[in-house]
Amino acid sequence: MVGKVPVGGGAPISVQSMTTTKTADVEGTLQQIYALAAAGCDIVRCTCNEIEAAEGLAQIVPRSPIPIIADIHHQYKMALAAMEAGVHGLRLNPGNIRKPEHIKAVASEARDRNIPIRIGVNGGSLDPSLYEKYGGLTAAAMVESALQEIAYFQEVDFNLIKISVKASNVPLMVEAYRMLADATDIPLHLGVTEAGPPPAGLVKATAGISTLLLEGIGDTIRYSLTADPVEEARAGRQLLEALGLRERKNVDLIACPSCGRAEIDVIDVANRAMKAFEDKKLPLQIAVMGCVVNGPGEAREADLGIAAGNKRGHLFVKGRNVAVIPENEMVEALVEWAEFINEHGTDAAIERADTKLAEREAARDRAQLMDEKGDDANHSAEKIVEIRKTAGN
Ligand code: SF4
Repeated sequence: MVGKVPVGGGAPISVQSMTTTKTADVEGTLQQIYALAAAGCDIVRCTCNEIEAAEGLAQIVPRSPIPIIADIHHQYKMALAAMEAGVHGLRLNPGNIRKPEHIKAVASEARDRNIPIRIGVNGGSLDPSLYEKYGGLTAAAMVESALQEIAYFQEVDFNLIKISVKASNVPLMVEAYRMLADATDIPLHLGVTEAGPPPAGLVKATAGISTLLLEGIGDTIRYSLTADPVEEARAGRQLLEALGLRERKNVDLIACPSCGRAEIDVIDVANRAMKAFEDKKLPLQIAVMGCVVNGPGEAREADLGIAAGNKRGHLFVKGRNVAVIPENEMVEALVEWAEFINEHGTDAAIERADTKLAEREAARDRAQLMDEKGDDANHSAEKIVEIRKTAGN
């Protein structure tokens, strides 16, 4: 348990993030923690790098909505101070606290207070002797660093442990976690360290974390993005929902990629819908489709969707047309119907609609679009004629 959050042993995968404020700034840090919790963060880490930070933690911990882990790098005394402040967990970097007596002093205190510790091996700050032994940064070197630390902990009978072996190189990180999962059944915290700013950072972190999660490796995750940590929490939550590892709490917005048939600016409408649903906790799949010709069929599994046709939006629920609305009210209508469905269900939404009228109107727009654009919405046939003319000359 990290505070009230279970970790490992079949518990749901949890999302972690880290505050970017000075921990001594109690109000600023708490504000960020509340924003992180609202975005789906289950456990938050705060740096404890100085005595003022430890004092800040003493005020933050009792007011935090989620468990707090103190991040300790060089000074083992800061670990002792953080425990005194009441934190729910510690993270130690074995590359930075290397004296066995210091490590054991922290572990003994944590054992007596029943506080879990994460052994946070980091590719960028590996113990130089291991670096030398393995001729550089390798997966085996990172795993050995973690196993050495576990051995110190075991000497003082401490076993409330979780481990991470993060690296910024995705294949290296994946290899290290696989080796670790073979070597121990201690819960693992996954992350690609220093992944960088989005979107590249998101891609790297997702590649590493989801590869492992799909192999059944990993108990908690963190996206280490060069961005507002709220984005980290949101990404972590979205990944777990997308992989079906956590119950859906937020809208799953699907949208067509748009094509020559599109009757609206799909990208703009999808982005506006995404924004409108961002803070609404509605566990629904909602589709934005560019045309009424293929849209409702392709998104028939969605709880709710909208497809554009002839300057009008055709709303559908589970593939059934339920309403026709002006094009400029599409996003507002989606929100209103989504809230109704969330409260009363899709059957009630279909029942309250005049489906016959909506289906008739959709059929009319569909027929008109087919007439205007035919099967070849991207005008490929015309282009081919042109190409032949050009090439023939
Ligand atoms: S055919 Fe319609 S629904 Fe499919 S991509 Fe094109 S605009 Fe979107």
